[in-house]
Amino acid sequence: MSGIIDRLRAVVLGTRCPDSNGTAPALVIRIRCENCGEEITTRVEKAHALQEQYEMVEGEHGEEPEVTGYLLRKEILGSKCQKIISLTMHLDACTRPIKHEVEGGELLEVRDSG
Ligand SMILES: [Zn+2]
Repeated sequence: MSGIIDRLRAVVLGTRCPDSNGTAPALVIRIRCENCGEEITTRVEKAHALQEQYEMVEGEHGEEPEVTGYLLRKEILGSKCQKIISLTMHLDACTRPIKHEVEGGELLEVRDSG
């Protein structure tokens, strides 16, 4: 990994998240059950639910772990049927969703919530 890439990453993923999205304490996720069609809205507290993803980067004192993003895994159960919807979401270092996988349902909306 070249120094230029490292510096670019520091700018992009550094502690300064350019917009306010990354600072909201929670995510509201709206999902549709594939089995019965129920729309389920669930709230996720970022501080509790997000797992930090680390990458070793070359720092001033040798290799250091740096947070490169977050992972959210959540199982969601509606009230109309017993089918569990399994959500995996990848977020960047500013906790903005990048991509997701859903088993048993369809993701309708993700938004930040105060
Ligand atoms: Zn259902």
